[in-house]
Parts: sequence; C-alpha cells; structure tokens
Amino acid sequence: MQGPDRLRLPRVDRVAARPELDRARAALGERVVVDLVRAALAEVRRAVLAGARAEPPDEAEVARDAHERAEAILTSRMRRVINATGVLLHTNLGRAPLGAKARDAVAELASGYCSLELDLSTGKRGGRARFVEAALCALTGAEAALVVNNCAAAVLLLLAAVARGREVIVSRGELVEIGGGFRVPEIMAESGATLVEVGTTNKTRARDYERALDAHPAAAAILRVHQSNFVQMGFVERPALAELAELSRSRGLPLLEDLGGGALVDLSAAGLSGEPTVGASIAAGVSAVTFSGDKALGGPQAGAIVGGATLVEAARRHPLARAVRLGRLPMAALEATLAAYLDGSAGRGVPVLALAHATYDEVRRRAERWAEVLRAAGATATVVDTEAELGGGALPGRTVRSAALRVMPAEGGVEAFAARLRDGRPAVIGRVQEGGVLFDARTVLDDEDELLLGRITGSLQG
Ligand SMILES: *Cc1c(COP(=O)(O)O)cnc(C)c1O
Repeated sequence: MQGPDRLRLPRVDRVAARPELDRARAALGERVVVDLVRAALAEVRRAVLAGARAEPPDEAEVARDAHERAEAILTSRMRRVINATGVLLHTNLGRAPLGAKARDAVAELASGYCSLELDLSTGKRGGRARFVEAALCALTGAEAALVVNNCAAAVLLLLAAVARGREVIVSRGELVEIGGGFRVPEIMAESGATLVEVGTTNKTRARDYERALDAHPAAAAILRVHQSNFVQMGFVERPALAELAELSRSRGLPLLEDLGGGALVDLSAAGLSGEPTVGASIAAGVSAVTFSGDKALGGPQAGAIVGGATLVEAARRHPLARAVRLGRLPMAALEATLAAYLDGSAGRGVPVLALAHATYDEVRRRAERWAEVLRAAGATATVVDTEAELGGGALPGRTVRSAALRVMPAEGGVEAFAARLRDGRPAVIGRVQEGGVLFDARTVLDDEDELLLGRITGSLQG
C-alpha cells in the first residue's frame, strides 16, 4: 500500500489547522480548506511516486500550496474593472455598464420584496414585464414583445415555438457563429427545427429563397441573421429585408430576423452608422426580431423578441419560456434603461450611448488632463490618437475617433505594469502597445478619473 505514511507525507488535519490557512478558513470554511490540502497533497504524492521529487514536503510547504489555491479561488470572484480598452461593449468585461437610474433601481428592488408578478392596483397576480413589453413596442413599432435572459435564448425560444419539427430557410451567408459558441445551425438543431440552406456564402438572391419555398412548401419560416461580427466585401449580395418580407407574406410564412446586436436607436450621430435598428426591421415587415439587451440597448444582459402578436404569444406560451425567463434584477435594470429611451434621456443616462456620443475633442482633452496629472506625479505620460470600437460583435472594422493616455512604467517591463494594473481594486484593463500601456479615454466612465489615475500611479513601480 502506498499510503501517506509510507511516503511520509504530512497529515491532512495537521496541515489544515496551520496558521498559513487562517485567512482561507475564515473566507471559505473548513471543508473547502481540507479539500484544498488534499488536492495539494495528491499533487506531491504523484510527484514523489513519479520520482520527480526525492523528499516529501513538510506541513508548512503543503499549507503554503493550499493557501495559494485558496487565493486563486478568492481572486476569481468578479471584480469591478475600469475599461480603458477602447472597446465599448467588451464581452469579457460584462458588455454594458449600467447608468445611475438602472443601478438605483436594481439596488432598491434587490433590498426588499417587489411587485414582480403582482398587479398593485388590483392586488391580484399580474403578468411579469408589462412595462418592459409596452416600452419595447413603443420604441420599435412592434405589436407585442417578450423578454428573456439573453438573445441566444430568444432565438432558441422563437425557433422552438414557430418551427419545431419543421423547416426553416436560411442563407448560407448567414450561418454564423457569434462569440461564446452561439452557432446558428446548432441553435436551430436544439430548437427542433430543420435547417434548409439557400444561396452561397457570398451571394443569396430572392430567387434562391423562392426556389427553396417551392421545394419545401411546408417550411415554417425564413430566418435572416445579422452578420454582426464580420464583414463581407467584394461580390456580395443578399435581398433587401423588405423584399424578403414581401416574399414571405406572399407565401404565407413568417420572416424572422436575429439582429443580435443591432441598435434600438440610430447611432450615426456618434459616427457609428450602419448598425441596423430594430424599428427599421419591423417597419420593413419582419414578423419577429430578436436582439440583445446589452448589445442593442446598452442595458443589462437580456434578450428580446418583438413582432406580431401571434408569434410573440406562441413564444410566451412555449414551455421553454419559463426556463429562459429574465430574473427580477436584470428586469429592474431593463425597466430603467427603457424608461430612459422613452423620456429622451438615454443619450446621457445610458453609459454606452453617452461614451459613444462624446466628441473627439472632449475625449482628447480628458486624456490630456490625465497626462498632466501623471507627469506632475513623475510618470512618463503622453497622449496618442486611437480608434475606439463598439464591440459586442457589432460593426466590425467600424471605429470612432478617440484618444488614449500612454504611460511607460517606471520600472520592470510593460507586461508587469499591465499585470499590476489588473491586480487591484478596481482592476484596470488597458492595451499594451509599443512599450507602454494605452488607456483609451473613450471607454472610461465619467466618474472614474480619480480612481483610474490613482491606480496608475500606484502601479508604476514594481
Ligand atoms: C450577440 C448575438 C447573439 C447572442 O446574443 P446574447 O445576448 O449574447 O445571447 C445572437 N445573434 C446575433 C446575431 C448576435 O450578434
């Protein structure tokens, strides 16, 4: 038997009781600490048995190993981040920060019970999300709306409700993969619908859809997918949305559109023209549109289906709807975000919109102020012009003029400087470039200047 005794490894209980693990025990509890010690011991046991290690470790060494494992777990918790990357909707950074009103709404509703499914005027059970649905209809011109927990869920639910066991027609140019493993053919398969591909990668014409409809007269829908995260150039063709809508109407089947990102309002004033709006799709005659609450609205993670009442109600009644429904906290944030679109304050109150609309001069002046403060503190800081992007898989290649602070670390390499910036509260994420770290002023929130400058000065030295 090759037990711990034979290998003279320390005993689990003795290591777990050591002072090196006091902090881990307080934060994670006895059981987790014992498991971490076991894991640390298992690793040295393997090393000893493999001959990679001659002497067994003492208790203190194993305790230090377990302590590091505990620290790794503790630091893996989500932390506030200052986004100085120049990417507005950064998927790794939680996409859209919430505005003050959305934050307050979440805090207030989270602190107590709330009228999630209670109609306060009658005292009877009421539907969820009434305000959100009414707001989405008003803002997009759609007849009905339903919210779920993200856009992937919205697509899955809509397809399951409309086309389970039936065929759905999609252009080969739109069988896309969106980051994080959302692939149109796979979602389609999960929904129980059968994919009928038409056209080619670069060109799909109305005639291709017509031929597919002739060959598959029982098809349930045509699906159009926004090629959100890539662009095709050169010999590219696909029918206008209105043309496709006309075709689907004449054949008596719905046209569904997954916009994903898209935008609730036109962003051309911010120099980000070209992103299709939900309202334009509804106006063009699309039967139901799916989009993402964070990408399209700059709100919380959520997904929406808007369109004709029959389709939306079919989705609402589908058993999957319950499995993908939106929680009350994102619902509170979504209500407040949509309220800002309705009362006209979204341009200021929705942070992503406010950041996107700031003028280049404002952004540049802000970066210059930062540089002055840092130079006064003895840092090597300059300002450079940059191109910020919307991100979130929207408008690839399309950028907004921006400016960034460029800081060279006082000592050590630039990678170590970037690591020190990440390793604090709040963490700061910039872009390492040409021997310095760039802090793009386009994506740093209004009230983060002092925090950012404090973290940079504190991270200059190793
Ligand atoms: C982003 C995107 C999705 C997925 O949206 P989530 O809200 O992240 O689930 C789906 N379809 C398209 C076209 C997208 O761009």
